[in-house]
Amino acid sequence: MTTRNTTPRNHTEVQRNFMSTETQSAPNFVLNQIREELEAGRADKVVTRFPPEPNGFLHIGHAKSICLNFGLAQQLGGDCHLRFDDTNPAKEEQAYIDAIKEDVEWLGFEWAGKVRFASDYFDQLYAWAQHLVREGKAYVDDLSPDEIREYRGTLKEPGRPSPYRERSPEENLDLLERMKKGEFGESEKVLRARIDMAAPNINLRDPILYRIRHASHHQTGDKWKIYPSYDFTHGQSDALEGVKHSICTLEFEDHRPLYEWFLANLPVPVTPRQIEFARLNLDYTVTSKRKLKLLVDEGVVDGWDDPRMPTISGMRRRGYTAASIRKFCDMIGVSRADGGMVEIGMLHHAIRSDLEDNALRAMCVLNPLKVVLTNLPEGHEEVFEVPGHPARDDMGTRQIPLTRELWIDADDFMEDAPKKFFRLAPEKEVRLRNGYVIRCDEVIKDEAGEIVELRCSVDLDTLGKNPEGRKVKGVIHWVSAEHAVPVEVRQYENLFLEAEPDRDKDVDFLEHLNPNSLSIVKGFGEPSLRNAAPETRYQFERIGYFVADRHDCVDGALVFNRTVSLKDGWAKAQKKG
Ligand code: ATP
Ligand code: MG
Repeated sequence: MTTRNTTPRNHTEVQRNFMSTETQSAPNFVLNQIREELEAGRADKVVTRFPPEPNGFLHIGHAKSICLNFGLAQQLGGDCHLRFDDTNPAKEEQAYIDAIKEDVEWLGFEWAGKVRFASDYFDQLYAWAQHLVREGKAYVDDLSPDEIREYRGTLKEPGRPSPYRERSPEENLDLLERMKKGEFGESEKVLRARIDMAAPNINLRDPILYRIRHASHHQTGDKWKIYPSYDFTHGQSDALEGVKHSICTLEFEDHRPLYEWFLANLPVPVTPRQIEFARLNLDYTVTSKRKLKLLVDEGVVDGWDDPRMPTISGMRRRGYTAASIRKFCDMIGVSRADGGMVEIGMLHHAIRSDLEDNALRAMCVLNPLKVVLTNLPEGHEEVFEVPGHPARDDMGTRQIPLTRELWIDADDFMEDAPKKFFRLAPEKEVRLRNGYVIRCDEVIKDEAGEIVELRCSVDLDTLGKNPEGRKVKGVIHWVSAEHAVPVEVRQYENLFLEAEPDRDKDVDFLEHLNPNSLSIVKGFGEPSLRNAAPETRYQFERIGYFVADRHDCVDGALVFNRTVSLKDGWAKAQKKG
């Protein structure tokens, strides 16, 4: 067995792909390969499958696999199955099955036929295990798990045969049947293939086919006391479903000879082929269900769909769109070359370009500072009608009321402003976005010296034009104090401070957690936000992209999650580099 080392990862490959293909997809060798087979008449209808184990929620890495498998079926006019690889009842749950189905559908894909389960094939797999036993190609072993490991040998040394390896087919059949009936304890016996204890590939040194597990299964209940291994299940399930292209990540490359051994030694209806591709690694992110589960179990995040999680449901809650996740998967392409680490900035870039075109605009003040327009009478009110989106007539208009008292962002005012500060400062002018030019005449402070209010005058002759002879460069966002709606805004940073949180195997990845990954602020939004429905996406002008929280933006509470910033540092770096 070869071990894949995590050599220093570089960004160049994926980025080159992106640079040359901003409008098209990056190369996908699997697609090209199957297309060639079809053209040469070496393949008929394409059937693929996405085979998650229901032991956690799906993450961005799975999205790559989903887009690949379902995408192939779409592009080549075939079918893609959703099959739960449910051979380990101890770690699996119905709740994960439900979440995975929802995620695949939300991403925009439809599986062919019913949802399938490897457990649908347990009877057939058992019959095939008996077949191998009868042929002298499988045996029941009484060695303990530790002994099995010890007998297996190492990369340098061959393994040794178990003393139980020469049991007769009759005895093995009987023992297997009694294992199935639950007559033995959990580590008392296993069923192993009888292949080659000296094989250079350790996966062929009599791999385990069945383990005893006195556990209830979410699909089969208490019917089984023995459960097949992943290796004994996967290829045969593919064959039973007519999946001829079994596409998986590179860590299964060393299992391929075993995958093929089962197909060659069993009377399977078709012979699928396994094709491996490089998994997605994303910086500042962990993509392992086990580690993500730990974050949930330890209470580091607020559940699997916490907006900081790289899970599909977390990204959805964060405001990412399904289209932009699919676009990202297209941009990264599919290759066999391992070792690439994709920048999270590239994912954000994909999200941002979608939101730029499709998110409603709104003004929202996150760090409110009161402004009084002293030359407007009390009770003054006028309404500006502005587009919901600057380039999209179909997105309607919004009404923005202007009154004597406003909120602006405290960050848009500086008392001792440098020359290049093009926002508000004493005796300086600035434009209210979508409105008039105002001038700051007076700064009001409390006893502690904190600025509590700005007194400004408004020039009513400046709507949509600059005042005669005066240059007003800055534009700031604002809301009417009288009509503003209170909002809660959840801001996010990366969950980890290290680009590769799980690089060093001796350091717990939890040590790299970013203590500031979540901060909550209370602000004021323009009145059009009042009825924001869950999952409505906005650009809060000059601030970033936000989404009305799927769960908490209900019953009059206005809760928004920050999706991404406006600035695209990644695209900028691509242009320069
Ligand atoms: P994890 O390590 O997160 O539990 P897994 O591979 O064990 O992932 P499965 O449920 O077995 O999870 O995966 C279903 C499919 O998704 C497999 O075909 C697997 O190869 C693929 N997959 C998992 N992680 C990635 C990734 N980071 N990039 C691409 N494909 C992935
Ligand atoms: Mg797995």
